[in-house]
Amino acid sequence: MSEGSEMVDADALAARIATVRTSIAEAATASGRSPEEITLVAVSKTVERTMVDAAYQLGLRHFGENRVGDASTKFADPLPADAKLHLIGQLQSNKARSASCLFSMIESVDRPSLIDALEKAASALESPIPVLLQVNVAGEQQKAGCAVDDAAALATRIQQSPGLILGGLMTIAPLVTDPEATRPVFAGLRQLRDALVANDPALDLGILSMGMTNDYPVAIAEGATHLRLGRAIFGS
Ligand SMILES: *Cc1c(COP(=O)(O)O)cnc(C)c1O
Repeated sequence: MSEGSEMVDADALAARIATVRTSIAEAATASGRSPEEITLVAVSKTVERTMVDAAYQLGLRHFGENRVGDASTKFADPLPADAKLHLIGQLQSNKARSASCLFSMIESVDRPSLIDALEKAASALESPIPVLLQVNVAGEQQKAGCAVDDAAALATRIQQSPGLILGGLMTIAPLVTDPEATRPVFAGLRQLRDALVANDPALDLGILSMGMTNDYPVAIAEGATHLRLGRAIFGS
């Protein structure tokens, strides 16, 4: 082990992953869904690379990071090709190019200038960039994500960008103590998706990225396809 890296307790990590998998299966079954419909994105923003590698060894394949700079350093030595990095934090337009090289999916697209910057970056790539439209469903001040009322126009703009593939929607629920309180936010994202597709059947919005450590069973009940779990996987 290299100097300065944290000790990895692989047994504890394996136990947390098993607990999460069980809860995902229970929540999915309870709402008549299959656990296979649900992708677990392990949010590794607070842990070192050794921990990510241990999680990969234990079978996880999707990892979420919220800063392009940190992730570039952490993954300078790339993960195996079947691992996917998701950008889940706010993206500055001037980092669109480096983000497009590093991440398999950019979940935090929320404004026209960023769509245009990513479209420009995509021209240097061999394949289009998978993105999600991040929506501020709760309408919280100072939170990332577009307004619900702007989602249709932004979805259309992404759809019309040949370098981008719109896979679905992402939201972050407000931090509350009672997970039930997040249900209207998750239901709101699902209803928005349904409305967007009803309005424009050409849109393919199969992905709903919603649910974090505090609230993921509720998100599953409301249709989440991608969970972004940090503490539940890596500990607090
Ligand atoms: C940190 C983070 C998460 C994971 O949060 P936990 O509460 O640790 O599960 C999920 N989504 C986003 C956007 C984050 O920044």
